[in-house]
Amino acid sequence: ASSEQSQLISLYDQAAKLYTHVLLNTEMGQPALDYLHKRGLTDDIINKFQLGFAPGEQLLKEFFDEKKVDYQLLRRSGLFIEDQQGKLRDRFFGRVMYAIKNPQGHVIAFSGRVLNKADSQAKYINSPETKIFNKGNVLYNFDLARSAIRQEKRAILFEGFMDVIAAYQSGVMNGIASMGTSFTNEQIYLLQRTTAQLDICYDGDDPGQAAINRALDAFSANSRLQLSVIEVPNKLDPDEYVRQYGEKQFSEIVHSARLTPTAFKLDYLKRDFNLSNEADQLSYLEGALKEISKLTSSVEQDLYLNQLAKEFGVQVQDLRQQLRQVHSQQA
Ligand code: ATP
Ligand code: MN
Ligand code: MN
Ligand code: MN
Repeated sequence: ASSEQSQLISLYDQAAKLYTHVLLNTEMGQPALDYLHKRGLTDDIINKFQLGFAPGEQLLKEFFDEKKVDYQLLRRSGLFIEDQQGKLRDRFFGRVMYAIKNPQGHVIAFSGRVLNKADSQAKYINSPETKIFNKGNVLYNFDLARSAIRQEKRAILFEGFMDVIAAYQSGVMNGIASMGTSFTNEQIYLLQRTTAQLDICYDGDDPGQAAINRALDAFSANSRLQLSVIEVPNKLDPDEYVRQYGEKQFSEIVHSARLTPTAFKLDYLKRDFNLSNEADQLSYLEGALKEISKLTSSVEQDLYLNQLAKEFGVQVQDLRQQLRQVHSQQA
């Protein structure tokens, strides 16, 4: 690593330790600590994930000035915002801090969450890109999850940091998250070197379900990963589910409620139709057959054709016949 990179790593390491110290050991950190405790986190987990709190505006500025850290390095660190006069002030304040780490476990960025969200504020703000941080390369928690991913032979992809942490606390330690719901080739490469199977467990709300649908397409086009979907019931996100139904029940859905991509897609497609009406039933079947036609295994095709036949009271031969037409239209 260039010396600029190792200097930045050292700054982020010191900043993370300071944020965690403020959270766990100071008066000004108390509201944030209460907030995290209320969300079910233990001090153990807080330490493990290096959660912290950024209080007033000049915590880091004063800390690094005291240590006579070079102004140009601070400028390029992304930890500060520079005003017109070139004066630096802390980028993060009044936020719970999530340390973002590289696969080696070094802190390379932060995401800060507001304590009490007002409408005008962004819920999360992230560090800007720097010499050590490229948002598109990050797999949150990959450093801690890697050995569990190898052991379980699968990784679980969540939407949010808090979902990864709640899962980890539940004993589901192979969870990761990207920052946002798009995925780069770097992230896919990192994953594929470690596992062949990816379970997608995004939020149960509508945006989460739409994101699953997109992710399935993107991963099947750009990766060799075997995919499945873990659906969280009642429109909850995984963290909310853990808090409402407990760690044991969460770990059960993770291990038992896995859908194939096709099963998810057939289900997801239903949203567009009113299946009590016959015209809609036919349109749905058409869409479903199109989905099934993408499968390369005829055994798998048969499985879903049989399900549809049963569900809609039609002959499986008729569906098979129509599937051949879909194929020839696509050829
Ligand atoms: P919490 O449980 O603390 O409310 P969450 O993870 O459930 O957080 P969501 O609203 O479901 O939050 O968003 C999922 C993920 O999307 C977040 O963890 C974060 O990485 C990202 N995200 C959400 N809002 C923003 C934002 N305003 N700016 C940047 N990233 C965001
Ligand atoms: Mn969401
Ligand atoms: Mn969420
Ligand atoms: Mn949440």
